[in-house]
Amino acid sequence: MAHIVIIGAGIGGLPMAFEMRALARPQDKVTVVSNTPTFHFVPSNPWVAVNWRDRDAIEMDIGPALAKRKIEFTALGAKRVHPDENRVELGDGSSLRYDFLVIATGPKLAFDEIPGLGPAAMGGHTQSICHVDHAVVAEKNWQSFVKNPGPIVVGAVQGASCYGPAYEFAMIMDTDLKRRKIRDKVPMTFVTAEPYIGHLGLGGVGDSKGILESAMRDRHIKWICNAKTTKIEAGKMYVTEHNDDGTPKKDHVLDFKYSMMLPAFKGVDAVFGIEGLTNPRGFILIDEFQRNPKFKNIYSVGVCVAIPPVEATPIPVGAPKTGYMIESMVTATAHNIRSALDGQAPVKKATWNAVCLADFGDSGVAFVALPQIPPRNVNWFSEGKWVHLAKIAFEKYFMRKMKAGTSEPIYEQLVLKTLGIKKLKG
Ligand code: FAD
Repeated sequence: MAHIVIIGAGIGGLPMAFEMRALARPQDKVTVVSNTPTFHFVPSNPWVAVNWRDRDAIEMDIGPALAKRKIEFTALGAKRVHPDENRVELGDGSSLRYDFLVIATGPKLAFDEIPGLGPAAMGGHTQSICHVDHAVVAEKNWQSFVKNPGPIVVGAVQGASCYGPAYEFAMIMDTDLKRRKIRDKVPMTFVTAEPYIGHLGLGGVGDSKGILESAMRDRHIKWICNAKTTKIEAGKMYVTEHNDDGTPKKDHVLDFKYSMMLPAFKGVDAVFGIEGLTNPRGFILIDEFQRNPKFKNIYSVGVCVAIPPVEATPIPVGAPKTGYMIESMVTATAHNIRSALDGQAPVKKATWNAVCLADFGDSGVAFVALPQIPPRNVNWFSEGKWVHLAKIAFEKYFMRKMKAGTSEPIYEQLVLKTLGIKKLKG
């Protein structure tokens, strides 16, 4: 009997538990350690922040879903991983021993790296949509804002790796303001570390630059690229725009009445600074099999894995880890742990293909980047109303899958196969 422990029950951790249970031997035990009793569907947080979605619709209890598949669960959280002892120290000081560990903790949000960044509860002056708790607060502030509108600053700071939701939220706010007939009272500026609009941390995808610039112009959203956000005060953001050679070009002081800036990510405290396990930012080091090179019984999936930037940029821009890419990591990991259980070497490699739907409220954009780093075999970016509908359908589908305790039903495999999208290499 082997004990497989998964830390984190988010977009990566929960499907990981279901796939692992299906692939492990009957006598093996699978345990999920979460620091919260609930799962929430992160991609829908922007809708919660403008009250287009209730948090109840995108949140569910983890325990019952795991119990259906005979997967053990604790919501005590991982305080510290002790890889030399094959042990996870839990929030109450007790320990859980493992034969295999999968780290799927997502990111720690690095609001502290810029003075004044982040929600008021963390001492900041901006909103966040990274967690549903933040999105609920952002929504309360949105309701106050629309009663007394003014300038908006929205975007992503230096070192961020998640740009899609910044564009998404800018467009969603634009749509919501138009519906309220107050868009004319809201000058909007998009501030981003990306070297150009539509870079997305991917070096662009298809005509993402042209399509997103056009969408921003169409919606009267100004932008500042190569931007370093230096500090934020109540209602004021200090931003230095840079030239392509990285030298400062212009200092901006932007007034705002409402602002959402995506922060940079780093690794969570439970693993930060463990020699050989993490890089200097606390992301888990992995090989092509999702396995840590030093601690070979530790695997990792999702936003917490270390991935280098796609290309050098004047201001640091990280590579995004999108949902489908995470699912491909999950499938490869489950197969590789099964191989290890059978005494064999791991062989499965995730494709890390970037496939994404970004909602604009009334329409949206979809992209497929195969592989993630250009030049690519598939490089497709498209705008249309269908994306908005597809994103709603995907949220409902994913929540249903998680409640039922399945990771990838056969019909999903068939659809992806038809589209030529594969999770595993070869
Ligand atoms: P998470 O989903 O964040 O899950 C990590 C889990 O680990 C959390 O439940 C956390 O509480 C838990 N945890 C953390 N520390 C501990 C600990 N010490 N012990 C136990 N548990 C712990 N990608 C797309 O493809 N499409 C989208 O539309 C999309 N929209 C996004 C919108 C936003 C606002 C953001 C931030 C990201 C979006 N992404 C999207 C990117 C990506 O899919 C998500 O970030 C996704 O949630 C990442 O999954 P994850 O499992 O790595 O992390």
